[in-house]
Amino acid sequence: MPGIAIIGAQWGDEGKGKVTDLLAEHAEMIVRFQGGNNAGHTIVRDGEEFKFHLIPSGILYSEKTCVIGNGVVLDPRILLAEIDGLKRRGIDVGNLKVSANAHLIMPYHVLLDTAGEVKLGKYSIGTTRRGIGPCYADKALRIGIRVQDLLDEKILRTKIRAALAFKQQALRELSVRRRKLRREAGEEGEDSPDPRLDLHTMTEEHVSFGHRLEPHIADTARLCWDALDAGQTVVFEGAQATLLDLDHGTYPFVTSSNPIAGAATIGAGVGPTDIDEVWGVAKAYATRVGAGPFPTELEDDVGRQMLERGQEYGTTTGRERRCGWLDLVALRYAVRLNGMTALTITKLDVLKGIDPLRVAVRYRSREGALLDHFPYHQSILHGAAPEYEELPGFDADLGACRSESDLPREARDYLDFIADFVGVPIDLVGVGPGREQVVWRD
Ligand code: GDP
Repeated sequence: MPGIAIIGAQWGDEGKGKVTDLLAEHAEMIVRFQGGNNAGHTIVRDGEEFKFHLIPSGILYSEKTCVIGNGVVLDPRILLAEIDGLKRRGIDVGNLKVSANAHLIMPYHVLLDTAGEVKLGKYSIGTTRRGIGPCYADKALRIGIRVQDLLDEKILRTKIRAALAFKQQALRELSVRRRKLRREAGEEGEDSPDPRLDLHTMTEEHVSFGHRLEPHIADTARLCWDALDAGQTVVFEGAQATLLDLDHGTYPFVTSSNPIAGAATIGAGVGPTDIDEVWGVAKAYATRVGAGPFPTELEDDVGRQMLERGQEYGTTTGRERRCGWLDLVALRYAVRLNGMTALTITKLDVLKGIDPLRVAVRYRSREGALLDHFPYHQSILHGAAPEYEELPGFDADLGACRSESDLPREARDYLDFIADFVGVPIDLVGVGPGREQVVWRD
């Protein structure tokens, strides 16, 4: 299986980092193909915790090539901080390659992201405010700045100037608001322009980022082709997840890129036939961060147990995640959208002691219609009430289970029910945060 994509099958935070880490051990190359530093994977290795926002999880293996593909948007300041942090912990980052075509998150993207959310008020999307959406928007507008631009000061300055010209109106509004806030806070002194938006400062700073990143900048599509042509295993590591997909997720409460498997081709520069396997990762329950529809959400003690026992707090933001029952209507949708060949179920251990367990098998619309498929219409999804199948729970601690026969019968039945319902095998089950806390089923 030379090309394998690992995809979030729910609303993110499914534990893709750990699955990628396990597969990376048997791969030569790990590639991120979309999203930005809003990802946030956590990997526990020998009791030590590593958090990644941008760099592919495979970086802990010094001999593997880790690629940030052209489909990723990256904040150079954050990438360099992540590189420095890893170096300080003795991790070799020599094999990190960054696509020359990846787009850069500039200071104005971050400012406009926050301003956009504030402006939307109660309709805000719940973005991580890291400038990712505005950066993708500029890419589509053809006024983006790319990694390769960091290596030519003249081009860089011209492109920043052009991009700023497009944003004058929005940036002016921002500075008016800033002035108002200063006045309201009783702050004295002259209003000075935001130094982060000064053309000269921004150019100088980014030229220096370019010097530091230069050893990592590469034609990463070619690197992927060479690896695939040599029969090496390449893992395409998805960030965020299917239900947050810009086209197929719960728009507008979605991310600004396409996290589904098909996007690996665009974001890495490989062909659809280069992807041999698609592994979806889902939790044994469901969580969601930020706003947007979440039919199986629980606001009771069971939800609280999932939150606390599952440590459902965002890696990047620390935000509490919303928790609920596993939604098989949504999961089956994710299986189809991604062309999944296998499923990994993580965090089965978290469900210990919850009896009965419930899984959503269909929705009922506000008008009383039964819905077997994930509704394409936002209003229907907002009003959809899940109908559940009840399954017996288990009381055992699963942390030490390493083979299928170690799992209690109820846990196995739960997994079988899921696999039958969505129509793909469950090959891997997570029974704890540790790397070794997994059960391979096939
Ligand atoms: P990702 O963004 O999809 O990689 O997910 P996160 O890294 O944000 O969340 C995964 C969290 O769950 C991490 O803290 C992992 O250590 C933890 N985790 C992963 N698999 C399991 C599991 O099977 N059981 C438990 N209890 N925790 C897990």
